[in-house]
Amino acid sequence: MYCCGPTVYDYAHIGNFRTFLFEDFLRRALKRNGYELIHVMNITDVGHLTSDADEGEDKLMKALKREGKKPSVKAMLELAEYYTKAFFKDSSLLNIEKPEAVPKATEHIEEMVELNKKIEKNGYAYKTSVGLIFDTGKFKDYAKFGKLNLKAQKAGARVKVDEERKKPWDFALWITNQPSHIMQWQSPWGKGFPGWHLECSAMSIKYLGEQFDIHCGGEDHIKVHHTNEIAQSEAATGKKPWVRFWLHGAFLIMQKDKMSKSAGSFVKIQDLVDKGFDPLAYRYLCLTANYRSKLSFSWKVLENAQKSLNSFRSKIKHLNELNELDKNNKRKYAKKFDERVNNDLDLPSALALAWSVVKAKDLGSKEKVELLLDFDQIFGLKLAESLKKDEAPKKVLKLIKEREEARKKKDWVAADALRDKIKSLGWKVQDSREGPKLEKV
Ligand code: AMP
Ligand code: ZN
Repeated sequence: MYCCGPTVYDYAHIGNFRTFLFEDFLRRALKRNGYELIHVMNITDVGHLTSDADEGEDKLMKALKREGKKPSVKAMLELAEYYTKAFFKDSSLLNIEKPEAVPKATEHIEEMVELNKKIEKNGYAYKTSVGLIFDTGKFKDYAKFGKLNLKAQKAGARVKVDEERKKPWDFALWITNQPSHIMQWQSPWGKGFPGWHLECSAMSIKYLGEQFDIHCGGEDHIKVHHTNEIAQSEAATGKKPWVRFWLHGAFLIMQKDKMSKSAGSFVKIQDLVDKGFDPLAYRYLCLTANYRSKLSFSWKVLENAQKSLNSFRSKIKHLNELNELDKNNKRKYAKKFDERVNNDLDLPSALALAWSVVKAKDLGSKEKVELLLDFDQIFGLKLAESLKKDEAPKKVLKLIKEREEARKKKDWVAADALRDKIKSLGWKVQDSREGPKLEKV
């Protein structure tokens, strides 16, 4: 499985992470079904240009300016490294599993040049003053995948007219003659840099072979990026189909706008944390919508997701403390769960099933806990952590002891003050016949 990865010139926003979460759910579902999975995700650390039309400013250059750094290869690689680390940190806060391979574009320029050579040799490319251009007119069915209506698509509507291009939607495989671009490499077509679709074709073929099973990305990639990836890959290898199954995640919508990075105002995972949310509440929210449907984001819906997640956690904790007899119906529920997950990744209804397990009359408490933990292999909500006994730090235990002594002396003022101090450290103390009981707040 190949998934288009992040462009590391800024933090990824929660819209990007909706797609990465969808791919993580899919990854977990494939593994649950016993598939041997190799999941590859690229890191785009060589700057895209700011538009699909192979023109405009390099996105990494723009980011350097934004951060007040002098442009150099070193500064660019450092910036990309910083945001790559941030991306994996945020991914792990969302409990997204790391793919088996996460190749960087800058480390695969050679493979991209080799792919272009094959495309050229097979007669699918021509040269202009921009560089090496893909000849879409030579590729039968170019419009098929994205259901493009090229006849109706006026020249210049999608891309600014480039007189040298045979068709306005012909795209660059290699870009030369851009001296302001910092990262450049030698190639048979002159010193330059790869077109932005190329890395995905080159790296997926390197790690998964000339034909592989699954390719994912956000729905915005269908009409240009993935259309061009297919044309390049099949033109280079001559093998069809390059990819057997395509899955596209629908967008997260915020205030009716596409949350694009270039818009400037976007919500990061750290913003959720700063507002006091558990990042897994966002994961829970993404489970509530099918990957094919748009999901509308607001702080209110996130608050509701957080409440549901909290309640889910306290329910499983409570169930774990009960000791009900088994009723031998686990299999029935597990089967239903698999059916829902395998029905085009219908996670909203798999989540609804989990809630019905919590309330089921025909399951014992132990069976319920086992089922929920099993379901959580897909949900990834870290439910097992809710079952761990919270161990209070030594400092808190010492205060408990002091409070017990104060209570023995009937010094209620001191005992209450100690209770408050314990509370300020995040623990609630309750007195019982067996002694004080501690609970994490
Ligand atoms: P980028 O870093 O811009 O290349 O985007 C990384 C991934 O996020 C791609 O698969 C995009 O299709 C996807 N993406 C971008 N914006 C959104 C959004 N608002 N909702 C869901 N996915 C998105
Ligand atoms: Zn891609």
